[in-house]
Amino acid sequence: MFQGVVIFILGLLFGSFANVCIWRIPRKKEIIVIPSHCPKCLNSIKWYDNIPVLSYLILGRKCRSCKAVISWRYPVVELLSALLFLGVYLKFGADWRLAGYIPFVWAMLVISAIDLEHYIIPDVFSLSGLAMGLVLAALATFGIPVDQTVFSRADVLSQWPLVDSAIGVVLGGGFLWLAAWLGEKVFKQEAMGGGDIKLAAMIGAFFGWKAVLVSFFLAFLTGSVVGILLIILGRAKKNEVPEGVNPKAMVPFGPFLALGGILALFWGRELLGFYLRLFGL
Ligand SMILES: [Zn+2]
Repeated sequence: MFQGVVIFILGLLFGSFANVCIWRIPRKKEIIVIPSHCPKCLNSIKWYDNIPVLSYLILGRKCRSCKAVISWRYPVVELLSALLFLGVYLKFGADWRLAGYIPFVWAMLVISAIDLEHYIIPDVFSLSGLAMGLVLAALATFGIPVDQTVFSRADVLSQWPLVDSAIGVVLGGGFLWLAAWLGEKVFKQEAMGGGDIKLAAMIGAFFGWKAVLVSFFLAFLTGSVVGILLIILGRAKKNEVPEGVNPKAMVPFGPFLALGGILALFWGRELLGFYLRLFGL
């Protein structure tokens, strides 16, 4: 219980840091030294006005100095971060692998938020995440845990985690690269960006090739459902797409990949087991 509370609070604090990264990294601003400030009046924010979620509520959603409205995204990101931290802890317990799982879910959150707004996935997350995933795999079995009864035939590779991880990188990056290439050939427009390719490779590095398959399946599934819903609701916002981005690529794919990666971490083993049992493997 106590550990859970500590993890939750840590998640809130890192959620606060996530907000800093989400705002500053796409704008090429420094993230550590410059203190938090209101983006409107530029007054620095006192520590007591910078408490995750609580300050937002106490201040009545407004900056103390200039009364500019604070976006609801700040407390939402903080809460999501806390819930992800707590979820990973509840799922895997006080395991050393949390040292990799927690940075992973945190990075997925930041990447999604940045991609939703700016249609980019900064290399600082995807490429360093890729490197981190490979290092963790080299240290020990880190991918989706293996259920021997289910995976005995389907999963010989997980005996060598680094090989599993490396195949995950090639499969993840390669598949999306192919999708991007096909998209350009068939639709004559950019459907998938380089950022998506690196993100997929990062998921592969962290959790191995099986997780890549699960993440892709979930990403394409959720992406199609949301895409169709947006079309039905007529909510495809064509005017707000930043310069250089194809307006027909209405929804960035990164957030769905990130969601797929998170779901694969939490339930990939169960989903794969279910799927393989369907085919009697
Ligand atoms: Zn202000």
